[in-house]
Amino acid sequence: MLTLIANAKINLYLEIIGNRPDGFHELVMVMQSVSLADHITLKPLKTPTIQLNCNHPQVPVDQTNLACRAVALLQKRCPNRTNCKGGVEITIDKKIPVGAGLAGGSANAAATLFGLDVLWNLGLTRTELQDIGAELGSDVPFCLAGGCAIATGRGEEVDPIAQSPKLSVVLAKYASLSVSTVWAYQTYRQQFEHTYRPVVQPTSDAVNLDERRSRLHSGPMVKALGHHRATDIAAHLFNDLEKVVLPAHPQVAHLKQVMTAASHLGQAGSGLGTLMSGSGPTVFTLAETPAQAEQIVHNIRQQISDPDLQLHTAQFTTQGIELKN
Ligand code: ATP
Repeated sequence: MLTLIANAKINLYLEIIGNRPDGFHELVMVMQSVSLADHITLKPLKTPTIQLNCNHPQVPVDQTNLACRAVALLQKRCPNRTNCKGGVEITIDKKIPVGAGLAGGSANAAATLFGLDVLWNLGLTRTELQDIGAELGSDVPFCLAGGCAIATGRGEEVDPIAQSPKLSVVLAKYASLSVSTVWAYQTYRQQFEHTYRPVVQPTSDAVNLDERRSRLHSGPMVKALGHHRATDIAAHLFNDLEKVVLPAHPQVAHLKQVMTAASHLGQAGSGLGTLMSGSGPTVFTLAETPAQAEQIVHNIRQQISDPDLQLHTAQFTTQGIELKN
């Protein structure tokens, strides 16, 4: 039996470049793992079945769950490894809010791939696991890499940024509100397709990746991360999807305003900057220290007493998936 910690992610930067021939969007993102995490327990079964238990009512417990899909895909990709033939019981202790823009499902899939590689002694490399993960979802390769990274393509091309600073973060989400990622991107396309840039077609994968990397590494956000300048990082927080999610959900727009104001109340509560993560509706505020993050939570609660508002504090982490002792 194996238990894994599957960390959530936030997007410090999300820019939509244009349409890709495969129907997805070409993206430029900076992703960061944070310590708000689900715990995934994997227990080998003698019978060739996949069983799933989860303590969150919104998470499917059938074969559509991303963790179950990860098992099935791994078995398909490694047909000759006898260890894969048995079944597995997966138990998800859900702490990451669902449909929140925090990649909870992707983190669960990543943890399942990582854990089964250990449990079944498959000896797959990180890159091999990421290639399999990319078939399950664009965020899975990042969840396997963890830490801080630039993600390009449809998000599956992950390029780590070494040594990002260890900041704190306040995460806020209305429990009863979820935003569909598909809806957010489709709505963005309907409203902003006229602004899209043509996506450079690769002469080879390597050239395409180099082109993307050169465009990104020169970006001010990446520079700020490399130089550990927290205020510069905050100054360059950016998310194109705010343009469609905030107008459609005034409650989230208001939350962002309150969090921005709450960050500036008193020295102890000084936050660095506030942004919606991914396709939302989670909004986060960065802070230098855990104590400042706690003060910001207190300040937000003074303004919004609605019990539906869930507030969490977390830290930047250097790993996406961790083995629990
Ligand atoms: P992303 O940031 O990658 O867009 P998200 O945080 O917005 O993802 P998830 O929490 O991953 O969204 O869930 C999206 C949907 O996926 C849920 O509504 C749920 O029906 C489905 N789902 C399938 N497997 C899982 C899982 N293991 N955990 C959570 N949701 C899952």
